[in-house]
Parts: sequence; C-alpha cells; structure tokens
Amino acid sequence: MKKKIALVAHDGRKQDLLEWVKFNVGTLREHELYATGTTGQVIAEETGLDVRRFRSGPLGGDMQLGAAIAEDKLDILVFFWDPMTPHPHDVDVKALLRISVLYNIPTACNRSTADFVISSPLLKEDYVRTSRYVDLQ
Ligand code: PGA
Repeated sequence: MKKKIALVAHDGRKQDLLEWVKFNVGTLREHELYATGTTGQVIAEETGLDVRRFRSGPLGGDMQLGAAIAEDKLDILVFFWDPMTPHPHDVDVKALLRISVLYNIPTACNRSTADFVISSPLLKEDYVRTSRYVDLQ
C-alpha cells in the first residue's frame, strides 16, 4: 500500500529533514515522494530517492502542495518549517498548514512526530481519511 508523502523543509531545517530521510530511506523508498523544489533536489542528490518536485516554496511550491491536498493527491505531509526565521512566503506556509488540517492529512512538523508517523502500522494499510469539513468520498 503506497502512500503519497510530501516532504518540505525550510532552509534552516533542511539538514534535520535530510537526516530523517536518510535514516528512513528504506521505508520511504516504498512510497511515492513529493517535495518542494529545493528540498526535493537536496533529497534526490543526497539519497538517490525518486522525488517528484514542485516549485520552490517561495515561488509557489507550498501552494502547489496545498492544491494537491485539496485534490486528494497527497496522504502525508512532513513539513519541517523553521520557527526561528521569518519567511517572505509566510502566508503560503500558513495556507498549506491550514489545508492539511482541513483535509485531515497527517502532518509532521518536527522529527519526533515524523518518527511516530513513519513507524505507524497505518502506513501500510488502506486508511480511510475523513474530514468534518470536506466530503472525501
Ligand atoms: P524549498 O521550499 O524546498 O524550495 O526550499 C521550502 C519552503 O520554503 O517552503
């Protein structure tokens, strides 16, 4: 059962995400991976994983991920956003996080949550997501 997993990290968190991806490369290889531009480039270069890349975050990549969630094209979001640095695309970041909650997408914003998500038995099951706001059927 393949999940569609989106990976995003702000510059100050890319190293954290890369370490996490390297640690979990065997598991991640079994799923479909998506990422914003630079995050995807770093992951592909450093791990050889096949990652489908959207635009870079500040150039609309976060919004593309949000649109993919609204179209039911993503199952999981791993988004290591930087709590210590202001970003020009802060509104896009907020929109992506809002959409992920609205559509009840598992969303990991730090490494411990990402660890819990990736080690969940539900990762290999046909999980039926529901949303109190949106008809997902
Ligand atoms: P990036 O975008 O992967 O292109 O750096 C991430 C972001 O800033 O949201």
